[in-house]
Amino acid sequence: MGGDDRTAQIRHNLAALEQRLSDACAAARRPRADVTLIAITKTFPADDVRRLADLGVRDIGENRDQEAAPKAASLRDVDVTWHFVGQLQTNKCRSVLRYADVVHSVDRPHLITALTQAAEQAGRSLDVFVQVSLDASPGRGGCAPDDVARLADLVAAASQLHLCGVMAVAPQDEDPLAAFGRLGDIATRLQRSHPHAVSISAGMSGDLEAAISSGATHVRVGTALLGGRAPVVR
Ligand SMILES: *Cc1c(COP(=O)(O)O)cnc(C)c1O
Repeated sequence: MGGDDRTAQIRHNLAALEQRLSDACAAARRPRADVTLIAITKTFPADDVRRLADLGVRDIGENRDQEAAPKAASLRDVDVTWHFVGQLQTNKCRSVLRYADVVHSVDRPHLITALTQAAEQAGRSLDVFVQVSLDASPGRGGCAPDDVARLADLVAAASQLHLCGVMAVAPQDEDPLAAFGRLGDIATRLQRSHPHAVSISAGMSGDLEAAISSGATHVRVGTALLGGRAPVVR
């Protein structure tokens, strides 16, 4: 596909997505400006990030440091905010701090320690979401709902880290509305002890309407913007 065709395709997808976002916000009686669109560009080339940025999408998300680090490095001239949304190993924190402004996947105390050290070394601060597992069996990352408060306290105590709120991925075998409803309750509870942690990162291509109706402030959308992904071999 030629470059211009690809830009036209992404522009078309973005327009359709914008319609979904504004419809979902209207249905939830929320202003569209409440919801930040993060384009998830994993498996897609750096040029797609440029196309998105040219089309006005300023928040970009990736889930693997191996892929994200070189991509972000080749795009230093593009003014976008990088979000790290994947499961994160402590030995990758230093690398992630070189490009990411936000990490959505903080789910254990060790990771908070490593991110704090990496942020200190980099001489900068980092926005953080505590990822919570809405599955009975956590395997795709995320802490148990009962651990959110403890992790949030640890993040808030680290001067380099700024606690934004909570993040989750809907379980595959459950109505997303029910799952995101629980996430909304978890977020409400968190805000009693951390009133500024008002963000909720939830909703992907298939379930963003449910997420927005449950209070999501950040949706993470890949497929609906960029098309289907080739399977990643790990
Ligand atoms: C890939 C990914 C997304 C985007 O998923 P789509 O279904 O392609 O929109 C969102 N969040 C996380 C954590 C992801 O890894």
